[in-house]
Amino acid sequence: MSEALENLLQEDRLFEVDAEFAANANAKKGIHDEAAADFKSFWHKQALDRITWYTEPTEVLDDSNPPFYKWFKDGELNLSYNCLDRHLEDHGDQVAYHWIGEPGDTRTITYADLHAEVCKFANGLLELGLEKGDRVAIYMGMVPELPIAMLACARLGIVHSVVFGGFSSEALSSRILDADARVVITQDGAWRGGNVVPLKENTDVALNSTPGVEKVVVVKRTDHGVDMAEGRDVWWHDLVEGKSTECEAVKLNAEDPLYILYTSGTTGKPKGIVHTQGGYLTGVTTTHSLVFDIKPDEDVYWCAADIGWVTGHSYIVYGPLANRTTGVMYEGAPNYPDFDRLWQIIDDYGVTIFYTAPTAIRAFMKWGDEHVDKHDLSSLRLLGTVGEPINPEAWMWYHLKIGRENCPVVDTWWQTETGGIMITPLPGAVPTKPGSATIPFPGISADVVDDDGNSVPLGGGGFLTITEPWPSMARTIYGDDDRYVDTYWSRFEGKYFPGDGCKRDEDGYYWLLGRVDDIMLVSGHNISTTEVESALVSHPSVAEAAVVGRKDDLTGQAIAAFVTLRGSVQGDENLLSELRDHVAKTLGPIGKPKSIVFTNDLPKTRSGKIMRRLLKDISEHRQLGDVTTLANADIVQEIADKASTSSGD
Ligand code: ATP
Ligand code: MG
Repeated sequence: MSEALENLLQEDRLFEVDAEFAANANAKKGIHDEAAADFKSFWHKQALDRITWYTEPTEVLDDSNPPFYKWFKDGELNLSYNCLDRHLEDHGDQVAYHWIGEPGDTRTITYADLHAEVCKFANGLLELGLEKGDRVAIYMGMVPELPIAMLACARLGIVHSVVFGGFSSEALSSRILDADARVVITQDGAWRGGNVVPLKENTDVALNSTPGVEKVVVVKRTDHGVDMAEGRDVWWHDLVEGKSTECEAVKLNAEDPLYILYTSGTTGKPKGIVHTQGGYLTGVTTTHSLVFDIKPDEDVYWCAADIGWVTGHSYIVYGPLANRTTGVMYEGAPNYPDFDRLWQIIDDYGVTIFYTAPTAIRAFMKWGDEHVDKHDLSSLRLLGTVGEPINPEAWMWYHLKIGRENCPVVDTWWQTETGGIMITPLPGAVPTKPGSATIPFPGISADVVDDDGNSVPLGGGGFLTITEPWPSMARTIYGDDDRYVDTYWSRFEGKYFPGDGCKRDEDGYYWLLGRVDDIMLVSGHNISTTEVESALVSHPSVAEAAVVGRKDDLTGQAIAAFVTLRGSVQGDENLLSELRDHVAKTLGPIGKPKSIVFTNDLPKTRSGKIMRRLLKDISEHRQLGDVTTLANADIVQEIADKASTSSGD
């Protein structure tokens, strides 16, 4: 980006804090200033208040070797203990998870149950010969054994690497190899949309190229009949049979590794992000409590992500359990057996807090309001979103339709690398604007800078940077310190660079504008793909849009748009020119797409994010880049065919 980012989208809607909500909110006005006065003390206090330590940390931040920061390095703790044992005496009977299987079976798991299951499995892991520091790959669907396996590893200081169950055997094997895992934990199969995802068969294929794996533990879930390799494979139920329901939690140093998790792979080859114990737990408990306003005795909290992503690690497992939350965990697809499955669950369980992604919200909008209208959602009191910039129209739909204008909406910006939420409204303390993640979380210092790293005045756009270290930050990329430094710490001296573009309005609110690689340069103007997409989505016929800048002789880059339409709307020449005019009217002529292609779907990662780089490859008639993390490969060819026949103007 050579020039400042243009400021195209005007969004003037503001939602003030509700006084009643504010009166009972965990986050009080003034908390940002308090934290800003001394961010180290703020985090130290959170660490001491929210965590039960074996040895309380006295040193907060070791910044002697940047960017390899250490937090609370003389502290000792155990995350499994913090998530389970410490709740048992007074709250053993409290539900930790209401688990709902896709075929309709359910399990109610209390903290006492979870503790017993975790201990039994941890004893099983010991029997397999695993030791502190070993790596274990976990390749599972959304079954209770997944958090149980993670917590059992955490109990023993074993480093888990969860691989999303929607990934292929190639993706699994490359992650096993990268982390050098000794054991794989999987299932025979996972339920998804009424089908069986053959996890064990995929694992068998992956293991052909991973000689380091000694044992495979298999949960029986679909019971469709799988081969068990003699001496290597063991059923979960056999491993835990007769094991004690007690297993001592190992004393760990705050800086011991907790897990490796690979990023979504939206921009290219995934990075094995390493998180550690003490700082991570401090970050996720603090953010979980303040952003979601958790009241452990009252709330039924549902983060509808997959545990295979960081959102699930931080906000289905570690944050919520350490905060003694009652949560919902759903195994299957949101549209199975019908489009109202999620609303049915909210209605049945009286869910009070719901957290999902813009891609899901756009799908709900596309499926139609009638599925929502069938259910009573009045239990909801707070809504959250994460994963991509949320288009203001999608935000409004969420607010009006799901929140019934009664729920604060928290748009939370963060990444695998940040471990926890970084830019977000605090409900009860920060007024919201549709499409803005608002302001940095207390104790987080951010800035928007230009090419040279100079702060861009309010009202302008540029690169998002984080200017001070924070406890839940990644410690490195597994086995590749150099790549860690190159990717995040080299662009701007002494600052963390997440790779996202951002503008700040006159109120200092942050508007995330997608990845910097996606920003277009049209006739000398820097234009964000997000803004053009949001303008398209604000047209009533449009469900979803992706925009890329493709090479153009005249303007350097030209705006190429790919659009999926709502419900039964058909795309024709008239709609095409209507959409181009609509964008020109919303953003000004500079934002007008040169070409628009109507398509039934957009290429997305398995976490549902639009992969613009593939659309760019298509638009510029290039060989497609890495597609291994793509969820819907067929659509790429379909779009390529359409794009080659569509007119330029
Ligand atoms: P990779 O780094 O491998 O390309 P990824 O960036 O998609 O994959 P994640 O760590 O899952 O992997 O996603 C973090 C990114 O998602 C952020 O950098 C940002 O681009 C986007 N994002 C997440 N939440 C928000 C949000 N609330 N608003 C805008 N963008 C968001
Ligand atoms: Mg990323």
